[in-house]
Amino acid sequence: MEKKVRVRFAPSPTGGLHLGGVRTALFNYLFAKKHNGSFILRVEDTDQTRFVAGAEEYIAACLEWCGMSPDESPDVGGNYGPYRQSERKASYRQYAEQLVNDGYAYYAFDTPEELEAKRKEIPNFTYGLSTREGMRNSLTLAEAEVAALLAADAPHVIRIKMPEDELVSFTDLIRGHVSFDTNLVDDKVLLKADGMPTYHLAVVADDRAMEITHIFRGEEWLPSAPIHILLWRYLGWADEMPQWVHLPLILKPDGNGKLSKRDGDRLGFPVYAQNWTDPKTGDLTTGFRELGFMPEAFVNLLAMLGWNDGTDKELFSMAELIEKFSVERISKAGAKFDFEKAKWYNHEWVKNTPATALLPMVKATFAAEGTDLSDDAYLEQVIDLIKDRCTLLTDFIPQSSYFFNAPSEYDLPAVKPKWTAEKAAFFEAYSMVIADGLNAAELEEKFKELAAVHNFKPGELMLPFRIMLVGGKFGPGVFDIAVALKTTETVKRISRAVEAFA
Ligand code: GLU
Repeated sequence: MEKKVRVRFAPSPTGGLHLGGVRTALFNYLFAKKHNGSFILRVEDTDQTRFVAGAEEYIAACLEWCGMSPDESPDVGGNYGPYRQSERKASYRQYAEQLVNDGYAYYAFDTPEELEAKRKEIPNFTYGLSTREGMRNSLTLAEAEVAALLAADAPHVIRIKMPEDELVSFTDLIRGHVSFDTNLVDDKVLLKADGMPTYHLAVVADDRAMEITHIFRGEEWLPSAPIHILLWRYLGWADEMPQWVHLPLILKPDGNGKLSKRDGDRLGFPVYAQNWTDPKTGDLTTGFRELGFMPEAFVNLLAMLGWNDGTDKELFSMAELIEKFSVERISKAGAKFDFEKAKWYNHEWVKNTPATALLPMVKATFAAEGTDLSDDAYLEQVIDLIKDRCTLLTDFIPQSSYFFNAPSEYDLPAVKPKWTAEKAAFFEAYSMVIADGLNAAELEEKFKELAAVHNFKPGELMLPFRIMLVGGKFGPGVFDIAVALKTTETVKRISRAVEAFA
């Protein structure tokens, strides 16, 4: 029987969630859902020096916003918990010691000062094949001395003993055959002096304990893969090893290197999924969400960074992505991030989403600016009229202002030079013939009829009418605006403008 698909998103709670991290979560999620598997959130918090308060909750909230609720996580629990590595601390030491006993790892007693001195002495020092013989570890010290140090609880770490002259090979589902020369990999620490495992040990132990079947993670973890593969072997678990899928990098807009948060700051676009406030400095970094991205658009644009369905189709809902997703169509090459294209996705989603579905998002956008809108029916009507003009959800605020407040200023240069008493008379007469209940086409019909009576071409009156209602030369169809504003407000705006234009 095929094993049930189990994949994990395994972030370290160290700060805001980079869009590359969300894409990793997404590809895990799509694969899990496509195969009726489980999507697991595991919090990799073993590096206590990098732990940042609030980051775990923030990550969970980002996943929720994107519509990727984990099937198992610290919050929802599951049969393979705990899902926070710090709470699994007790389970790791036995594996590190097993590796020492089997000759695949060793105790290292070097103090930070000794390591520092070596770094000074040897340029580009790494602890490994060529240097381990000159260090204080269980490979160089007498057995009795090692035993005495351990008995005395002398501070120590456990390091993997990288084998000499071996080629570690494996199959990556995107990259095919990959191999690494073990001579080029240093003896990574597996268990730290505080008894916590490092990422390398914890990731392998937990992927096995949680019966993970496929590891989708960023390409930046590829150099760690040989260490992990050796650990799977050395721990005797080789036949349980998951499949490897290293996702292409997300690159800077110019294609030169991995996209970092600093690129976003420099070029003026978000890199984090949601707003992140650094608890130490109080610095706020704006996220895609608060900038006005719809979660559907964010998910869609992330999916297209390194994947396509083999056609030119660019717009996909989550359900469509789940249906179409396949690892074979993930590209090897890095994907350039283009913020203009990201906005294009959002614009498409805003345009194509019915006003009823946009309503809660637009209301929340207003609420975030301190405006609580209560008339849902009216707001929905407004959304319907202006959504084609809004790229970001935040655009609904400026684009809808005249639906809530009469213009405080008019684009006078656009009307005044050609304004006449006859035009004023036309608008006064028009005020008398409009009524609630007429639709936009009927209002337009009346406008044209009356223009003929007053010897105007309708075109000469259309722009002044728009400026009366809106203040400027923008917005959707002017008769649609009049219908939404209703007669009393339209008439009020006409008469105020007639005074201002005179
Ligand atoms: N904790 C690692 C990270 O922060 C996980 C890498 C992996 O998926 O193995 O991305």
